[in-house]
Amino acid sequence: METMNKFRPTRIKRLGKTILVRWNDGRADEIPLTVLRDKCPCATCNGEGKTEENYIPIKAPFKPAGFYEIEKILPVGNYAVNIIWKDGHNTGIYSWDVLRTIGESFSDTNK
Ligand SMILES: [Zn+2]
Repeated sequence: METMNKFRPTRIKRLGKTILVRWNDGRADEIPLTVLRDKCPCATCNGEGKTEENYIPIKAPFKPAGFYEIEKILPVGNYAVNIIWKDGHNTGIYSWDVLRTIGESFSDTNK
């Protein structure tokens, strides 16, 4: 993994249904857990399967209990966090770049 991230969080705080990410440039993003989970960068959620031609882009309406709830957030080196969801999903590694992109795209479309 590259370590040339310009931005990194100074603090990640879990609130009720969001997380608050404070950045070293002073920016703060409050990201809903629904957005965070839907943008899970792991191969299962956003891997090759979704780019195959026969992929049907309809999300299953069923979400297991805890799908949008965080069990814990684990640091990964100094470049990412691994978010463990309460439904047991634990392969989502959110690099600072990913977090920043999610935060910016969400904030910019909702303010
Ligand atoms: Zn995932």
